[in-house]
Amino acid sequence: MPPRLSISTPSRHLGHHLTRSHHQPRLFSSAASWHADFTHVIIGGGVVGLAIARQLQSHPDARTLLLERHRTIGTETSSRNSEVIHAGLYYGADSLKTKLCLKGKIMLYDLCEKYDIPYRNCGKWIVAQNEAQMGVLEKVNAFAESIGVPMKFVSLEEGKRREPDVRAERGILESPSTGILDSHSYMQFLQGDFEERGGECAFHSPVTHIEALDQGRRGWKVFSGNGHGDEDSAIITADTLINSAGLAACTINNMIMPPSRHRKPFYAKGTYYSYSASHPRPTTLVYPAPTPGHGGLGTHLTLDIAGRVRFGPDVEWVDDPGDLAPNPKGFERALDDIETYLPGLRRESVGLDYCGIRPKLSRTHSAVSGDGFLDFYIEDERKGGLEGFVNLMGIESPGKAF
Ligand SMILES: Cc1cc2nc3c(=O)[nH]c(=O)nc-3n(C[C@H](O)[C@H](O)[C@H](O)COP(=O)(O)OP(=O)(O)OC[C@H]3O[C@@H](n4cnc5c(N)ncnc54)[C@H](O)[C@@H]3O)c2cc1C
Repeated sequence: MPPRLSISTPSRHLGHHLTRSHHQPRLFSSAASWHADFTHVIIGGGVVGLAIARQLQSHPDARTLLLERHRTIGTETSSRNSEVIHAGLYYGADSLKTKLCLKGKIMLYDLCEKYDIPYRNCGKWIVAQNEAQMGVLEKVNAFAESIGVPMKFVSLEEGKRREPDVRAERGILESPSTGILDSHSYMQFLQGDFEERGGECAFHSPVTHIEALDQGRRGWKVFSGNGHGDEDSAIITADTLINSAGLAACTINNMIMPPSRHRKPFYAKGTYYSYSASHPRPTTLVYPAPTPGHGGLGTHLTLDIAGRVRFGPDVEWVDDPGDLAPNPKGFERALDDIETYLPGLRRESVGLDYCGIRPKLSRTHSAVSGDGFLDFYIEDERKGGLEGFVNLMGIESPGKAF
């Protein structure tokens, strides 16, 4: 799914805001009133920033601005992923990843249904080829049961009947609440609804630096360029600042925090593979049993909303968050991996497709619970001495659940 978005709303530049004057007290906070341009400024117009913006703007007195460095919404990680509505199977019971997944998937299905956002509750299989992998499936099932996620083992006979092309020698664990959605339609809905509620998006507006006024007690001064090399073409003030800058969230954090609280970002690139053959073409998502310590969920098979099959993503650590060229290095190995569960694969019909980069907060971490597992970082930084700053970092999968 390479980036594609057509937005009917015209891009706005920040100059537009500088003439505004507002005289309303700070909202959702105990700090004294002052006169900021906006009650809330959100940095980042990906799926998470958009969802937050829409929610905040539902408050009748909110004046919310979303700042995005590109010309439109969702051109980074939010349009370079698997588009899966995850059930919440893999993360620790008390983790934010699990909690947000459990709540988020229900809200997401309801929202898609209510606003005609294309989605499909197609379910997902995790397949085991041997005893060791079956042990992993049993653990996943026990964990899912303990947190109330519906799961069931499908008999090998039923499996053969339903998906004759899928190989599962030892077991199939099915997650009926997993699904897919059209990310672009979802983000367009979020932007449209946010703006209809009176929120504003400013594109071509890279945030270049930030000043906390009296540790945020008097709000925030945000400096933004205009996307054409002019570093500080606009200054805006806000009562509350939200960092939802995805791959650049650590950079924003480091603009604000003292050096002792700086974070180093790590980037785990994932390459996807397209599939052009009409056969084999399962109708459910198929994942191999997760490998503990692996940075992703294995080279799995997902479908887009049009029914196209894609494989991946793999995991490759890169230094540059702009390194989005699909890497052919893992190609043969990925084909071998896919053939373990899809033996009829037409190898010649698989091609390099696109890449996405996971914003990680550590290089050693595992995508599933256990050693090295790292949760989303979502903090109201008040306890760290900063008023009115909400900081989101490491928002990798399952970030669509916001
Ligand atoms: C390979 C891969 C597969 C995935 N699969 C799934 C999946 O199946 N299901 C799922 O739930 N999640 C999945 N995810 C995770 C999901 O895509 C992310 O959690 C989600 O898209 C993060 O959204 P975001 O808004 O935080 O970040 P982004 O989409 O990266 O948005 C951040 C925005 O901030 C902007 N920005 C950055 N710096 C500045 C600045 N200084 N000034 C102004 N704007 C700035 C950027 O331009 C960008 O538009 C996957 C991720 C990857 C990489």
